[in-house]
Amino acid sequence: MKTRNQLALCGGDKTISNGKEARFVWPPLTKKIERSVLRQLKTTISIYDRSGIFEEFENAFGSYHNRKRALVCSSGTLAIHSMFVAADFKEGDEVICPAYTFFATVTPLLQTGAIPVLCDSDENGNIDPKEIEKSITPKTKGVVVTHMWGIPCQMDEITALCKKHKLILLEDCSHAHGTKYKGKLVGTFGAMAAWSLQGAKTVTGGEGGVFATDDDELYYRALLLGHYNKRCRQELPKDHPFHKFAVTGMGLKYRAHPLAIAIAKELFDDLEEMLAARNNFARVFCANQTIQKVLRPPAIEAGSRPSWYALVFQYQKEALENLDIEKFTKALQAEGLVEVDRPASTSPLNLLPLFETPQELFPVYLRHPFSYKKGDFPKAETFYQNAIKIPIWSHPKDKKVMGLYEKGLVKVIKNYRELLTGSGN
Ligand SMILES: *Cc1c(COP(=O)(O)O)cnc(C)c1O
Repeated sequence: MKTRNQLALCGGDKTISNGKEARFVWPPLTKKIERSVLRQLKTTISIYDRSGIFEEFENAFGSYHNRKRALVCSSGTLAIHSMFVAADFKEGDEVICPAYTFFATVTPLLQTGAIPVLCDSDENGNIDPKEIEKSITPKTKGVVVTHMWGIPCQMDEITALCKKHKLILLEDCSHAHGTKYKGKLVGTFGAMAAWSLQGAKTVTGGEGGVFATDDDELYYRALLLGHYNKRCRQELPKDHPFHKFAVTGMGLKYRAHPLAIAIAKELFDDLEEMLAARNNFARVFCANQTIQKVLRPPAIEAGSRPSWYALVFQYQKEALENLDIEKFTKALQAEGLVEVDRPASTSPLNLLPLFETPQELFPVYLRHPFSYKKGDFPKAETFYQNAIKIPIWSHPKDKKVMGLYEKGLVKVIKNYRELLTGSGN
């Protein structure tokens, strides 16, 4: 027989019975976006230079970040590759990278022959400045950071280190559109920054990316890499030594799709409003005493504002008599909290075959060998194993569903003992 608080996994009623209501649908497809896509469709679906919706988006995105140059690309991965090529990373150079990130922060580096020197995480899963310092050698050329899940890295410490050791700092802001560190937007700390506009990202066009810098020379190199012909001819000064390469550039094409940028522009226009709603929701979750006892929220410094790309908690199994994380997650999902998830593909890079035996795909690493293995980054690996992710909705009207997620979490935590009986525990 059912009792009032019985967990759904044990036969009780679900907290959220309406499956549709519990789904996190992204992006919100408004009439405004539909109109904008149709307008763009009737204008042009290929833009060869810096004009039209590209120019509009780049102007808006650049001035929001107070960056002189912004460049739309076909993906975040390629915006990141553009940073590495613009930085002139070469075979045998060492570049310090987070061990815990989505792999595309680092994989484009393998195209340059430079060596990724991975660093362990801090308590938020971000690259730890103390580990960066330990990894610096005479071969180190730069540092790339990812503001994981929209929580800013420790930028005071990281910028100071880069300055002291004359290292170029690059930021992957793909989780962190609009994130602020102590009042300052991320993407404004490094010499260059990159954002993804892929379908799951806060500002999205389905696929796409943005590269930004204040430095003209870095910008010209990024243009030459992936924006050949008209755009290079338009923007490279006639007297620049590379102007002669304008027609071909370096021969690759990283140009964005105008329909994607039209969508991204609409979402970008709403970014501040979305982040205000998310921060209100996230604050409630992080302050809930019952949840806090079991799920440790990220530590946020005063004046910082996460983008809450997702709210990623650290599960503390001791608080629930060592209840297995898998069972805890299953119990939440059974309550109808269908979006509760353990991030799988965003794993520490040392667990991926490409970082174990890179030379099998990239022969340059026969000359400059590197290899990582399980156990190399205990903090990153622990963070990954204990991570439980919930989406944060982006509109004040989503208060109800956020309230139900909170209720479901509290229910499972208060009644966890029902999960201890039976096999496995
Ligand atoms: C999504 C993402 C990327 C890759 O961006 P794409 O637009 O999918 O190529 C890179 N880094 C991080 C941290 C990401 O989340």
